[in-house]
Amino acid sequence: MAPTTKKYDYIVIGGGSGGSGAARRAAGWYGKKTALVSAGVSGGCCVNVGCVPKKMTWNFASINETIHKSKYYHYDATKGVPFDFHKFVDDRDSRIKTLNGAYESNWAKDGVDLIHATAKFLSDHELEITPNDGSEVYTLSADHITIATGSYATVPKDIEGAKHGITSDEYFLIKELPKSMVFVGAGYISVELAGVMAALGVETHMFIRGETFLRKFDPMVQDILTKHYEEMGVHIHKKHPGIKKVELLNPAKDESDPREKKLKITSNDGSEIITNELLWAIGRGAETRGLGLENTGVKLDKTGHVIVDKFQETSVKGPCYSLGDITGQAELTPVAIAAGRQLGNRLFGPKEYSAAHLDYDNIPTVVFSHPTVGTVGLTEPAAVERFGKENVKVYETKFSGMFYDVFPKDIKAQYPTAFKMIVQGPEERVVGLHILGEGTDEMMQGFGVAVKMGARKQDFDSTVAIHPTSAEELVTLAPGSRRDAK
Ligand SMILES: Cc1cc2nc3c(=O)[nH]c(=O)nc-3n(C[C@H](O)[C@H](O)[C@H](O)COP(=O)(O)OP(=O)(O)OC[C@H]3O[C@@H](n4cnc5c(N)ncnc54)[C@H](O)[C@@H]3O)c2cc1C
Repeated sequence: MAPTTKKYDYIVIGGGSGGSGAARRAAGWYGKKTALVSAGVSGGCCVNVGCVPKKMTWNFASINETIHKSKYYHYDATKGVPFDFHKFVDDRDSRIKTLNGAYESNWAKDGVDLIHATAKFLSDHELEITPNDGSEVYTLSADHITIATGSYATVPKDIEGAKHGITSDEYFLIKELPKSMVFVGAGYISVELAGVMAALGVETHMFIRGETFLRKFDPMVQDILTKHYEEMGVHIHKKHPGIKKVELLNPAKDESDPREKKLKITSNDGSEIITNELLWAIGRGAETRGLGLENTGVKLDKTGHVIVDKFQETSVKGPCYSLGDITGQAELTPVAIAAGRQLGNRLFGPKEYSAAHLDYDNIPTVVFSHPTVGTVGLTEPAAVERFGKENVKVYETKFSGMFYDVFPKDIKAQYPTAFKMIVQGPEERVVGLHILGEGTDEMMQGFGVAVKMGARKQDFDSTVAIHPTSAEELVTLAPGSRRDAK
């Protein structure tokens, strides 16, 4: 049995968004003796293989899109403008290294003890710590332990040759663009990563089980964005019957260069496609592997996520808490950070925080697709289910942003901006807002405040528009744009 070397007030497992928020609040604000046990690179998924490299690469791709559109403004870019993706990736990754360092220096400033190691529960209060540097294994204990170990990208277990494909993690290793790439999955990660490749001129295929992607989003978003992706030239294989096998005909030079990699993908209907790369974006699993939860009373739901109540308490009330992706609740960085901060406030803060918790309702979010989508609150079907069809009304509008005014009519029609506001009851309280089109990523945050505050349609109407913008259409939705919910 390894010796117990230290007892902490608080141990947080996981150096990602949630773990960072939790540890910094406890140590930095409340001076608690806090250890952060982190097996991976500081900053976790978001900084290293999620939000940050994704958004930076989306920016890179968006420049290429604008260059292609610039001819309608009489810029002479008909032959395109050469770009160096490899150099961009190098710059992107060096920025990410800086961010890793910033995370670590913030932890140090707040007095958090960073331990680069893997933690495994021996009991509800005790952890076995296996240092990354191979040094001796030891144990730590604490009065409070928070599990924030995140999630991992899954690869199908039952498809022959599935291992020849990659996940979103390896996507960010690519430095040389393949000629063609297949994306399996209809969620936001698939839509975002495929959108980037398509915008950079890669022949892009998406295998989706239904007629549309983004199935958890409002039907307006699903319909318009799927159609737009097709118009962008993405090959969307709808009602895809599933993949039977993947054969590696030629390996990649190295993982950053899939140009020579050749895969043959055979689907269950016998159809075949040869491509350079295949990316599985079929969902993420809760990172409970090797955590030793079987040595605790922490319970998991049927999808393998840690069950928590609104206070982030696991089924072991008291010492064990959990938050972030591993709990499967709104798997987003700011959600994990906010949950960690609220938990710290409740456990270690003054009396007025004794019931502090994160409110998971009305969390605004954005899909970095092409164009972007912003959303907050309920979809139309969810609003109907919650309030009854007779109590829900919908305001909607579809137009082309002014940026496209100089485009030929048929091209302009391919670039929609579409807004939907879902209101409930005689007061017309806004319970859902779904906005698609250029600039909606930056628009959403402010409108998210209004919806969170319980704004009514008339509050939007009484706000003076900012002209000329696309956003102004949200405060000028006419009575004629109102319809009954479907
Ligand atoms: C491609 C992609 C794009 C995304 N884009 C966005 C976006 O634009 N906006 C957004 O809000 N969210 C986005 N997300 C989601 C976001 O990254 C996650 O919701 C967020 O990172 C979750 O934080 P977390 O702290 O729960 O987990 P993580 O950030 O995954 O951190 C978990 C940490 O725990 C460590 N760990 C695991 N097991 C152990 C162990 N046994 N011992 C010690 N340490 C351990 C890991 O090494 C890791 O550092 C994206 C995700 C992906 C995959």
